[in-house]
Amino acid sequence: VTTLVSRLPPSSTYFSLEFFPPKTQAGFTNLQARLARMTTAFRPLFVTVTWGAGGSTATKSLELAEICQRQLGVPTVLHLTCTNMNQKLIDEALEECQSVGIRNILALRGDPPREEYKDVLPDPGSKADGEEFVWAVDLVKHIRRKYGDYFCIGVAGYPEGHADESHPEAGKQNVEHDLPYLAEKTKAGADFIMTQLTYDVKAYRNYEERLRNYIDDETKKKLFKDIPIIPGLMPIQSYQIIRRITKLSHAKIPDDISARIEAVKNDDEEVKKVGVDIISELVEQIRGMPQPDGLPRGLHFYTLNLEKSVAFILERCKLLPTTSESEASSSDDSDVAVEG
Ligand code: FAD
Repeated sequence: VTTLVSRLPPSSTYFSLEFFPPKTQAGFTNLQARLARMTTAFRPLFVTVTWGAGGSTATKSLELAEICQRQLGVPTVLHLTCTNMNQKLIDEALEECQSVGIRNILALRGDPPREEYKDVLPDPGSKADGEEFVWAVDLVKHIRRKYGDYFCIGVAGYPEGHADESHPEAGKQNVEHDLPYLAEKTKAGADFIMTQLTYDVKAYRNYEERLRNYIDDETKKKLFKDIPIIPGLMPIQSYQIIRRITKLSHAKIPDDISARIEAVKNDDEEVKKVGVDIISELVEQIRGMPQPDGLPRGLHFYTLNLEKSVAFILERCKLLPTTSESEASSSDDSDVAVEG
């Protein structure tokens, strides 16, 4: 990722697209066709493939990532979670990545099953019996120790804070609390930060500013001065989905945005249309924020494996490659979820 970014003109904007592996074979086949269309027409700088916590989607995630990297030829970032995963499973995934030419990993903790998590609570820094990884930083350290610089590593950031059970005030979100741990991940070898989805541009602006100016206690350096920070944006696919996702991710919907969605909530097509307006406005606001000298602006779209809204947003924001505009607008109309 960082090599790709470094080759772009400094004032450019790039974007990435996230996909998850469908559960059924039919879903997988549908997604493959859609992926081919989307990557050809939209030309994302890279795509990312999610990973089910505990390795629940390991085979399918690796299969999908390989399709993206090898068949479609799009640089691919594999998400990899480490909690409830032993080192053997992690290394199998990383070796598989090496064998298919995947050089980018988004190193995550994942959300442990609740019961197990409770064991970690009394002393969040310690590992439960037999567990080799507790925090994302453990995975970053492992990758660097064992694989040197082969992988470019991304880590998660939370513009509105992370609601964690291990937080001193359990479940509360707090950017302040997270920053030293984000610093640990960066010092351990993370190359870029990809953020939780947000609809709150003010919160995002503050977060980015705070990171850029953050001085690490130990090194006394501005650790995040010029590292790529890529904001996560999720197109609004339906009223139900946005309600569910924002609840799960603890992302707030600012009042003005909420009012616009509420006003059309009974009309799915209108929700999508207003959603395109909202996300396009967010994109423009984020593009207007200052960037470190020479660093292109990145955007990450959580696609939910859907095509149309992203296409409209990219078109509206003039982020589509000019030669492929016609292909993008001829994307299939139905845009139904490809999950089986
Ligand atoms: P960490 O960086 O380990 O942090 C987790 C929490 O613990 C934070 O609150 C942090 O402040 C705190 N913390 C960290 N280290 C310590 C310490 N030493 N002592 C005390 N507290 C500490 N989940 C999936 O299962 N699959 C995915 O594919 C996936 N993709 C994601 C993509 C993005 C861009 C993002 C933002 C999240 C994704 N997640 C995914 C969700 C993620 O796994 C959860 O949010 C998880 O709860 C935290 O992961 P993390 O990597 O941020 O953890």
